Amino acid sequence: MYNTNNILLTWYDANKRILPWRDYNEPYNIWLSEVMLQQTQVKTVVPYYTKWIKKFPTLKSVAESDLNSLLKLWEGLGYYSRCRNFHKATQIVVEKYKSVVPNDYKLFRQLPGVGDYIASAVLSIAYNKKYPAVDANLKRVISRYLGIKKLTRRNTLRIHNQLNKMLTNGRPGDINQALMDVGSLICKPNDVICIKCPLINKCKGYSYGNPIMYPDKNKRKPIPTKEYVAVFILYNDHIFINQRSEDGLLGGLWELPMIEVFENSNKIKALKTYAKNKLGLSIDILNCFDKVKHSYSHYKLLVTPFACEVSNIESKIGHWIRVGEIDKYAFSKVNHKLFNAIGIKNY
Ligand code: SF4
Repeated sequence: MYNTNNILLTWYDANKRILPWRDYNEPYNIWLSEVMLQQTQVKTVVPYYTKWIKKFPTLKSVAESDLNSLLKLWEGLGYYSRCRNFHKATQIVVEKYKSVVPNDYKLFRQLPGVGDYIASAVLSIAYNKKYPAVDANLKRVISRYLGIKKLTRRNTLRIHNQLNKMLTNGRPGDINQALMDVGSLICKPNDVICIKCPLINKCKGYSYGNPIMYPDKNKRKPIPTKEYVAVFILYNDHIFINQRSEDGLLGGLWELPMIEVFENSNKIKALKTYAKNKLGLSIDILNCFDKVKHSYSHYKLLVTPFACEVSNIESKIGHWIRVGEIDKYAFSKVNHKLFNAIGIKNY
């Protein structure tokens, strides 16, 4: 008799992606990988994961580390709140649960940075619990499988029900991972290879023709551009950097201090006022470098770096570091682009 789950698992056993965290179904490894994989492609995550595990082989080693060392390893992966939350969460696990990742959904879900998806993915893969790990990938695959066009509340519930039905065998974690792999390898957002798909015999999207039409895609809103000016101060082979507050975008990372400017505003005046009021530094502008562009998911950034000189070096906040020490600090991608625009390596 035709059994979708068995076919899916047979396909998974023969075709699953070889990924370093799949070597062992350790809760810590699975959890770390799922945190890194949020909003990030597998091929980007693999080298970060490998480097991280080498330096922090256990959950306890993460909990005992300082945040700066973790952010340095995370540098370039983006969405830095994931790293901060993971750090806090590991500390709670060490203190409250004797370093054992809780296998109870409610307890695990209460940890910083753990949402429904991460809780379900980790508990199903590492502890074999029957929780469907519903992310955009699985939603797309099951929408096509059920022939769902609109992701209404009712249809989202149908997707969850279908997944719950699929998890009623002895390998819920593998079913979740099989569907993740189908979504990643075969049933992609704009491309499907249905003849290779283990779900083809019961897939309504396939039988209706043109499965890519399922589900309806959200129309992309135009992405706004924000403009910033950055201060680059070189003083006796030292540069001035500032650490972003831990909350919010790029929290905890270091940067050349920068401020948003608006259309028709006087950039130089804005920069001087910012340096005086926020940094406590009196600056004179020497010259500006090429603008740097960077894209985040919700907006684009355009930053003009200005070389400045200072008449005082005591600042309210921030830090003077030697140019050669840049690699010791975690900076965002846009800051590395600024360093390139400035040609800082040549200083
Ligand atoms: S048969 Fe095609 S549309 Fe259906 S789940 Fe598989 S790849 Fe996607």
